[in-house]
Amino acid sequence: MDGVNARDAHYLEQAFSRLEICDDTRELIGGSYREIEFDLTLELDDGQRASFRGYRVQHDRNLGPFKGGLRYHPDVDRSHLRELAASMSWKTALNDLPLGGAKGGVTCDPRVLSKRDLREVTRRYVARLGNMIGPELDIPAPDMGTDEETMAWFYDAYGLQHGDQPAVVTGKPVALHGTYGRRAATGEGVALATSLAAERRGIDLQGATVAIQGFGNVASHAALRLAEDGARVVAVSDSGGAVYRSDGLPVASMKALRDEAPRRGDRPSVRDVAEGAEPLTSAELLALDVDVLVPAAIEHVIDEDNADAVRAGMVVEGANLPLTAGGSRSLEARGVPVIPDVMANAGGVIVSYLEWVQNRQGLRWSAEQVTDGMAQRMRASWRTLCDVADADDCGYRQAAFNIAVERINTAIALRGV
Ligand code: NAD
Repeated sequence: MDGVNARDAHYLEQAFSRLEICDDTRELIGGSYREIEFDLTLELDDGQRASFRGYRVQHDRNLGPFKGGLRYHPDVDRSHLRELAASMSWKTALNDLPLGGAKGGVTCDPRVLSKRDLREVTRRYVARLGNMIGPELDIPAPDMGTDEETMAWFYDAYGLQHGDQPAVVTGKPVALHGTYGRRAATGEGVALATSLAAERRGIDLQGATVAIQGFGNVASHAALRLAEDGARVVAVSDSGGAVYRSDGLPVASMKALRDEAPRRGDRPSVRDVAEGAEPLTSAELLALDVDVLVPAAIEHVIDEDNADAVRAGMVVEGANLPLTAGGSRSLEARGVPVIPDVMANAGGVIVSYLEWVQNRQGLRWSAEQVTDGMAQRMRASWRTLCDVADADDCGYRQAAFNIAVERINTAIALRGV
């Protein structure tokens, strides 16, 4: 199972055994359908010639067209994208979306490239993929280092070759076939998953303490919603460190101050905008004695070395893959419930799906319709997840794999593959 990271391989194997899946189908579900890698050489704004590596990993297409983000980051490589592409397949399957899983990226540092350079990288990336993407084939979306503007360039570049097709990419600006609610969707969904899980655990979110790692798109929207719902968000962080305030951070004003800053360029750190807060290290944030811990920044932050230090009553994975295999098993062994990424941060792909549906119908729904559509789907996923966790007597992550694998396996059988 080359395409699956060590953490997920364990849960995937368990799901295969439970469903008595044959070796051939295991290979099919565990590995990538197709991996594309290419060179992107271009002349930069400053006249220098630069070469970047571009990738698209298409993992599974049995439930529908491939779907997954496009990442611009110096650490992008094929094996990492494989893990993320497979994770998208479990996420779309768990959330009952008629889509498969994929992930793509370019190994570059978007912080040092000009806007023109990034636009050129995007145009060439689209040209290289040619007929391997499309509204019925593979639909990218924003991820780390890409945003609405990147998706607008993507849509335009695809249209030059294939005719105007807004449904080729999601996460576009609202003014250019995007949907209301996409920007906040993942964080809003993380907050909803937190409240559903808290309800099941008998935790009253009113006044409950929450620590959130990160203050980017996902983390800041989750923080805002949780604070509005009455939780006490006592800590947040960014790459410069964390901040703590026992009576709750002023997350609304912190977010407003950061949003005022230019999108590219230096943003104030959370320490600059958190009034009355004390500084913490990122490690101290993860070890806070809180009701809920939400790692919502980067991957692999809780591993076997620091999992014992986690004192939170519950962990909600806002980021993709924030727990390693060791971290995940260590928390499970101590009975700390973990709401897996494929459930907790699914709001983003659900609203991307709703954007795709609108584009294919030539409609625009109201913000309320989109928010309600996302909430309904997340509630349904959560009910199924809890039912399977109870029936199979397992944790939430194992239940998520049992559901996803069963759905993909059924599609494979019905297709007669
Ligand atoms: P982002 O770039 O907006 O924010 C990332 C945040 O992490 C920033 O606040 C950054 O300062 C912080 N950070 C970076 N290094 C850190 C460190 N060492 N310690 C603490 N904080 C650090 O990204 P995002 O869109 O918010 O995505 C966050 C995570 O959620 C990623 O794993 C992403 O794949 C996942 N995710 C995002 C979406 C989406 O719709 N944006 C959807 C699903 C999953």
